[in-house]
Amino acid sequence: MREELNVEELFASKVFTLGKMKERLPKSTYKEVKKIMDQGGELSLATADVVASAMKDWAIENGATHYTHWFQPLTGITAEKHDAFVTHPDEDGRMIMEFSGKELIKGEPDASSFPSGGLRATFEARGYTTWDITSPAFIKETATGPTLCIPTAFCSYKGEALDKKTPLLRSMEALSKQAIRIVCLFGNTEATKVLPSVGAEQEYFLVDSAKALQREDIIFAGRTLFGAPAPKGQEMDDHYFGVIRERIGGFMHDVNIELWKLGVTSKTQHNEAAPAQHEVAPIYESANVAVDHNQLVMETLKRVAGKHGLRCMLHEKPFAGVNGSGKHNNWSITTDNGVNLLEPGQTPNENIQFLLVLACIMKAVDTHADLLRQSASNVGNDHRLGGYEAPPAIISIFLGEQLEDVVAQLVETGKADNLKEGGVLRTGVSTLPDFVKDATDRNRTSPFAFTGNKFEFRMVGSEDSIGSPNTTLNAIVAEAFCEAADRLEGAEDFDMAVHDLIKEYMTEHQRIIFNGNGYAREWEEEAARRGLPNIPSMVAAVDTLTTPKAIHLFEKFGIFTEAELRSRAEVLYETYAKTINIEALTMVDMANKQIIPAVMKYSKSLADAVIAITEAGGDTYVPTRMLQQITQKLTEMEKASEALLEVEKKASAMERGKEQAFCYHDEVMVAMNALRKPADELEKLVDKKYWPFPTYADLLFEV
Ligand code: ADP
Ligand code: MG
Repeated sequence: MREELNVEELFASKVFTLGKMKERLPKSTYKEVKKIMDQGGELSLATADVVASAMKDWAIENGATHYTHWFQPLTGITAEKHDAFVTHPDEDGRMIMEFSGKELIKGEPDASSFPSGGLRATFEARGYTTWDITSPAFIKETATGPTLCIPTAFCSYKGEALDKKTPLLRSMEALSKQAIRIVCLFGNTEATKVLPSVGAEQEYFLVDSAKALQREDIIFAGRTLFGAPAPKGQEMDDHYFGVIRERIGGFMHDVNIELWKLGVTSKTQHNEAAPAQHEVAPIYESANVAVDHNQLVMETLKRVAGKHGLRCMLHEKPFAGVNGSGKHNNWSITTDNGVNLLEPGQTPNENIQFLLVLACIMKAVDTHADLLRQSASNVGNDHRLGGYEAPPAIISIFLGEQLEDVVAQLVETGKADNLKEGGVLRTGVSTLPDFVKDATDRNRTSPFAFTGNKFEFRMVGSEDSIGSPNTTLNAIVAEAFCEAADRLEGAEDFDMAVHDLIKEYMTEHQRIIFNGNGYAREWEEEAARRGLPNIPSMVAAVDTLTTPKAIHLFEKFGIFTEAELRSRAEVLYETYAKTINIEALTMVDMANKQIIPAVMKYSKSLADAVIAITEAGGDTYVPTRMLQQITQKLTEMEKASEALLEVEKKASAMERGKEQAFCYHDEVMVAMNALRKPADELEKLVDKKYWPFPTYADLLFEV
């Protein structure tokens, strides 16, 4: 039996919460901190000293000896450099542990080894980290012991953002400013701030780590680069929501404990569609905290997996032929006096503020579908988007029957007098209650679906930071709110003006609404007719960041400068090229050093069998035929391996940038697929004893 848990006590025990600050800080200091959290501004150094000292005492009580500014460079993961609270000893050789206000609010890691896309020349190595006071400090269990982590933003000497956090915080301010204008128009003058809330559902795979360690592709690429399908896949639908096995359950239990300690509200856990695939979801919270917490979720999944002899694979497509993993990014916007702007209420057709917000979001998503698509692209997600399991690469909005009907009425007549009701669901069993149905069913194939009082952006990849998608969402909606407010604030007849604006936006951007099956081939054709962009790959999406439209948007709201956008484009091309290069070299290595030698050994045993059987006067039909088949595929494989190496050499010799990235996409990836094909066919023919590493069946069904 497991020990009884006191979750209430455990929760946030490793977080320097507001509550702990209230307890430990002088009243005036606490008030100053709280004010800055709510309204922005800068901590004075004197106050920072007091906060830092209290934070250090708390950290030391919790076993910490070190602190780190915890930040999110453009690698997509987090970075930390630990410093001890140790200071210079005095004359008597005594040392007192210290942590100053300056150390709390500002750090200066050498930035030269992080991707900057040309924003920072190597000789200008300075980078600064500054405390994001709205995301609480916490103590993380690291390999070196408990460490105080201070969530920070990371900028260059000149103030350019070198991370995913700074633009997100800027976008939140922009959205808040414009959304306040909208709620003011409707008489809500008490709200001072509007915050985007985000809840990120995280999918992942778990495999046995001893088996995973026998595969170079899992080690170097985080996904399998070879592998014939197992006889069974996910066709029986017996894994989704299935009973959680002992070993996995023990893992989830420990993940929850670790996350709760860190103040992450881990709430939902279940088995996902593919074998060995699972999901965890916390309760939504403010976007910047959600971004930090999602990083902690990913890190915790990996760390706890290690303790259970498991390996957590966060890659978007670790196994061919079964579902990949995504991250559903649930997003809504709420005022600081508690009004969710995406709450339609009982009668959305009469809720003018909601309809205006909806019209603005339609406009934003339609105008910037390309940017939204880009924000959810990474190397791994290329294998997932557009497959028949994940949202298509085409952005569209799902509204559900009721709202779609409201929009159609508004477009047609300018009024929406009727409301389709949810109706009553009759179970047909006398002991089961009938209940009122939701007015919308779920649509699992839409990339951007309205789900009651929030939008669910389902394109995001499982391994990606949710920083970029939320920065983009905030930015495009801020722009639409701004344009609407510009028009409405000056209107003589507000009621008339808002009515006209809703009708105009909905009419102009109606093409972005699609309630049908996003996986159907016909949708691709229909979307093309509607003129919706269909951007096939990560590299093809990079250009969207530097169109005049994008530069105008991001500069206007102070989210990215043009230089910052260009730097991101460069980093993306580089990341793509480097990732595919590693994958290509890993494939060649596995082919030449493992698969080809193993197949040769097996061929030799077949050849020996042919000779022995001939001598004994038996029928050599089977071993002869197998030998022929296998050696033929082996030749094919060897040629494909040569060809891949050739094109890899060409690509890696090219200058960094767009052309190189496209060469990796158009040529290297193609050569990789050509090598995989004969290898996977061989796997199906060769005696299992000879196969050099664990197969899909071993990995997916023996956890
Ligand atoms: P699903 O059925 O899609 O798995 P859930 O009901 O489990 O959805 O919720 C998914 C996520 O959406 C959770 O993280 C939840 O906290 C989050 N969520 C709920 N309401 C909101 C909201 N208003 N804004 C943002 N996220 C929300
Ligand atoms: Mg969901």
